[in-house]
Amino acid sequence: MPEKALVLKAGREKSVLLRHPWLFSGAIAQVIGEPASGETVSVYSSRMEKLGSAAFSPQSSIAARFWTFDPDEKVDESFLYRKLQSAWQARRELHDDTQTTAYRVLHSESDGLPGLVADRYNEWLVLQFTSAGAEYWREPLIRLLQQASGISHVYERSDVEVRSLEGLPERTGSLAGGEPPQYLTILENGIRYQVDIQHGHKTGFYLDQRNNRAHMRVLAKDKRVLNCFCYTGGFSLSAAVGGAREIISVDSSLDALELGKENMHLNGLKTPSEWVEGDVFQVLRKYRDQARTFDLIVLDPPKFAPTAAQVERAARGYKDINLLAFKLLAPGGLLTTYSCSGGVSADLFRKIVAGAALDAGVNAVVLERLSQGEDHPVALTFPEGEYLKGLVLRIN
Ligand code: SAH
Repeated sequence: MPEKALVLKAGREKSVLLRHPWLFSGAIAQVIGEPASGETVSVYSSRMEKLGSAAFSPQSSIAARFWTFDPDEKVDESFLYRKLQSAWQARRELHDDTQTTAYRVLHSESDGLPGLVADRYNEWLVLQFTSAGAEYWREPLIRLLQQASGISHVYERSDVEVRSLEGLPERTGSLAGGEPPQYLTILENGIRYQVDIQHGHKTGFYLDQRNNRAHMRVLAKDKRVLNCFCYTGGFSLSAAVGGAREIISVDSSLDALELGKENMHLNGLKTPSEWVEGDVFQVLRKYRDQARTFDLIVLDPPKFAPTAAQVERAARGYKDINLLAFKLLAPGGLLTTYSCSGGVSADLFRKIVAGAALDAGVNAVVLERLSQGEDHPVALTFPEGEYLKGLVLRIN
């Protein structure tokens, strides 16, 4: 049987030579050997030089994702195990189990395994398969990750829309170890949070904000805090531990707010707190009309622009909430504002926030630029991996 392979159009090997892991369908001249969805293919330049091996994804505009750029490296279980072990080892070195028991173990392309995300919550691993290639290897990947990590309980949360782009249906459920408990009580920098890995957002918790939540403790001392898009209280609890004077937390999800309240009790935190169910866009307007002020505002909205196509609408959303937040800040107040939209670059985000400050009539300076935690690494060859952008601003 002939080798299964892709041959690139002339001049289209440039991104491959830069080791970008994605190959778009428009770059492919020929598909040889009828590879199945997710199957490993050799990739050749138009001059028939072998450039590496990739997972074929016939339904997606990202028609292949590279496993390796070494023409001689074999993609087999031993290859997968090396990647899994290296990612696990890196996390072991980064995290102190006595303080933090939940973090990302595998961050897809940036850990060399495109389409696989794995998060650890105590003795559970929660997996998300988002590409045809990862799906193709799912059984070995599950088994080998259990081996590499020594964690046997595995739950799947492949309930993400991107799977449809790869022709994959959504999938959730226990993969090993039976049904997980309704809540796992994880530790993050010494703070306890209850996490619902079956129904919570993402794989249960916004792990990417861990360092920024820790930083909140430093910023919040004696402040009147407004935490917008609070989910289960991540930034609220950090502000409480940091000595905030009072905290208002806003979210549209009643379940998330209930858990937030419980999380406060779980940690014995007594900071005066209000949990408000509502649409942040409306709540901020109401507070503005009431002429209320705050010393520290957090804006951590959901992804307004998953891809570049929705950027304009997203920009309006970001501008709106940032403008309102600037108006609600007392003199000398701090704004920590985030965007997790892949389609909005750090530079564009800074410009949107600058426009909001201008329209709000405030002078603001950037004190710090923030990003995702070190368990969400960004391969230098894969800038798309850097999606979380944050600014700490102070108004004068
Ligand atoms: N800062 C949080 C994560 C925020 S995720 C943490 O550290 O854990 C975004 C949150 O925004 C989700 O909880 C979602 O329920 C909420 N949300 C989405 N749209 C909203 C809206 N228009 N108004 C209020 N909350 C909203």
